[in-house]
Amino acid sequence: TRTPLIAGNWKLNLDHLEAVHQVQKLDFTLKDAKHDYEAVEVAVLAPFTDLRSIQTVVEADGLGIKYGSQDISQHISGAYTGEISPVFLKKLGVTYAAVGHSERRQYHGETDELVAAKSKAALDHGIVPIICVGEGLDIRKAGNHVEYTLAQVDGAFAGLTADEAAKTVVAYEPVWAIGTGEVATPADAQEVIGAIRGRLAELYSAEVADAVRVLYGGSVKSSSIVELMAEKDIDGGLVGGASLDADEFARIASFY
Ligand code: 13P
Repeated sequence: TRTPLIAGNWKLNLDHLEAVHQVQKLDFTLKDAKHDYEAVEVAVLAPFTDLRSIQTVVEADGLGIKYGSQDISQHISGAYTGEISPVFLKKLGVTYAAVGHSERRQYHGETDELVAAKSKAALDHGIVPIICVGEGLDIRKAGNHVEYTLAQVDGAFAGLTADEAAKTVVAYEPVWAIGTGEVATPADAQEVIGAIRGRLAELYSAEVADAVRVLYGGSVKSSSIVELMAEKDIDGGLVGGASLDADEFARIASFY
């Protein structure tokens, strides 16, 4: 059985001082509500400049939350100005790195090939990639959302062994649902997420497909998480805007 994961993607919000406050408040709120971190994992994906501060407070105060980055370089070291190495991130105690978020695909031209390389680099250094996939509105309207998303899955997993694939997290984030307040219906999300799991079974095996956690992302709120989590293939949420409010994010993590 897969452990649910509720991950907050802060995007370009919260500096390192605000980050410390946010994770302390979040952990306090969850512990107050007797949150069982083993039963439902909670993570925040923060700007790179926050990670050292988050590491310090998580270790010093024994916080139950995990943390990660919103991107990662496919390179380890060398002449790659502006890149952040998986080696550096591992030293900061990150558990997760988002890879191929739609905003990076859109504004930074990230391709399926790059997403595959970054996912591999993360795994090589003990970091779990949260591989983001999902279609835009035009593709959804044309009815090609499953096909399109599965092609992104094929691209991202090209070059990953079965053992590596089994460690990954996939996030299905339909672009039309991101930051729009328009959450996919649970049935719509399940349709694509079930197909993603089916594709992983074809690419690898039923065991791998069973192991990979697949999250839904796109306007998740405490009012929508319960019915999303009731779908059989949805293993958690990747939460943007609502993760900036510690109380609301704690409610989302307490969906059970
Ligand atoms: P919102 O929850 O703000 O729609 O963002 C979703 C997202 O992009 C998470 O990665």
